[in-house]
Amino acid sequence: MTSTATHTATDGLRARFGRALMPTYGTPAPPIALAAGQGCRIRDVDGRSYLDLIGGLSASSLGHGHPDLAAAIARQAGELVHTSNQFLHEREVELAERLRDLLGAPDARVYLCNSGTEATEAAVKLARRAQGRDRPVVVAAEGAFHGRTMGALPMAGVPAIREPFTPFGVDVRFVPFGDVAALAAAVRDDTAAVFLEPVQGEAGVVSPPEGYLRAAREACDAAGALLVLDEVQSGIGRTGRWFAHQAEGIVPDVMTLSKGLGGGMPIAACVGFGACAGILVPGTHGSTFGGNPVACAAALAVLSVIERDGLLDNATRVGAALAEGIRAVEHPLITGVRGRGLWLATTLAEPVSVKVCEAAARAGFLVNPVRPDAVRLAPPLILTAAEAAEFSAALPDILADAAG
Ligand SMILES: *Cc1c(COP(=O)(O)O)cnc(C)c1O
Repeated sequence: MTSTATHTATDGLRARFGRALMPTYGTPAPPIALAAGQGCRIRDVDGRSYLDLIGGLSASSLGHGHPDLAAAIARQAGELVHTSNQFLHEREVELAERLRDLLGAPDARVYLCNSGTEATEAAVKLARRAQGRDRPVVVAAEGAFHGRTMGALPMAGVPAIREPFTPFGVDVRFVPFGDVAALAAAVRDDTAAVFLEPVQGEAGVVSPPEGYLRAAREACDAAGALLVLDEVQSGIGRTGRWFAHQAEGIVPDVMTLSKGLGGGMPIAACVGFGACAGILVPGTHGSTFGGNPVACAAALAVLSVIERDGLLDNATRVGAALAEGIRAVEHPLITGVRGRGLWLATTLAEPVSVKVCEAAARAGFLVNPVRPDAVRLAPPLILTAAEAAEFSAALPDILADAAG
């Protein structure tokens, strides 16, 4: 490889990335090649240091290099990395029990898989299986994000696995997010399920009005539809509660989890409550790596550290301080801050979030341009008030840099 005086390790990695990886993500902008981290600090391959305020898109709940997480992963890796689902192992049972305890739902059952979209797939199949073909419609919200796979099932080569779920393709009826009347009108006797995020993440950390999930619960009960809550991004402490829907005191029929659950390790869960606990019977679904011992050990460590170190409270407290610090910055480019817990979006007067994120990175902060006019913060749940204050103190210069 040719090299010049100004050729950095980041440049080299970026060029190799462009040649070797599919252009799925373009070249990440700004190109930052991360090397190692400790707590909420992370450094790149050229030695620059950043305060990580996006936490691997809400997944790195314990930050980087967390000793308990690293030890749990190492210990499990030394004992047993993989079993497949032909065999039992204790970590998966422990994790399912733990999630059930946190939900206060002793009758719930957990299906473990590897990514958010897989948890959605499990929920879609569960709904189809529970409701049959007479209810072909799923109601979902405009702006919603539930994952990127379109369903591998139509290509499954075994009719016994494939046929119980035909016809393929989910017939979706969209409603504006947060509109109770529209939701009530859309949920009918043809509706298998309503899929909702308690707070829409990819839409830019958008909360519905208070009472929306309770209204959704009522609409589903009235029409015989299932309420599926996608807590892939909102769950595991992100909003200051274990699960965001707990703020409304309702119980869904199905709930999905992923991102923060593994602290960065790939793991996801689809939880069925009540009658939905027993729908995915043998032969209906599965995953080779689902419930992987190392991923489960990581998730167990994440849950116990959140509990031991009071990270739900920390998310509430430091999140409020962070929001307040940003609100106190008076700049014409900032129009507001929304979100809850350690999950915020700063809204902008102009669609320049990429520029703001680039300027933030130059100043040593990693944030995310979730929408053209919104910058997302989803830092590790261990963020301290002092670290939050660093960002608000730097924000005026970041905005000046972005505007210049
Ligand atoms: C990220 C996300 C998903 C998809 O998760 P992947 O692990 O990327 O497949 C699904 N739902 C929500 C709400 C998400 O934020």
